[in-house]
Amino acid sequence: MHTCPKCNGKGYESYYEDGRLVTDPCYHCSTTGEVDSLTYREDRLASVAVRIATQEEEDCRKAINNDPDSEGYSTHAAECWMSEWDYFSMRVYDRQDSVMGELSKLSIEQQDVLIAWNEYVCEPIVYNEQVVYDESVSLHREEVQDEEYCDTFDGVDDIPF
Ligand SMILES: [Zn+2]
Repeated sequence: MHTCPKCNGKGYESYYEDGRLVTDPCYHCSTTGEVDSLTYREDRLASVAVRIATQEEEDCRKAINNDPDSEGYSTHAAECWMSEWDYFSMRVYDRQDSVMGELSKLSIEQQDVLIAWNEYVCEPIVYNEQVVYDESVSLHREEVQDEEYCDTFDGVDDIPF
């Protein structure tokens, strides 16, 4: 068994909503705090899909903004009545399934290489000068400590091999 990556082994997830600390049971591991090997692997492969989808959309955003004939990415977002960030997030989400479909066609060995590439090699993805995807951070999910978020991570020591 492996520590559930969603709740970090706690079985419950805490987050702030409207300034209030909310704690929910973790649906990913059914509050056991652990996932089986198959789920653990799928989770890590899904992270690869999120990275690729995020990078693709960021490339798309830049291409649109660099195209002199285009009205710009923010205009596309505005046409959908969305903020640019919500629009970006939605498009990343839409891309994930097809990327995951492509990844599932690869051999186990190829998938393992991509998982390692995602977790140990890649640079964070930056959108508008803000990090929007960093697997090394999501592996060390922020834990709610008392009333404030703890935003420090202990480096790479507890990355599960
Ligand atoms: Zn969990």
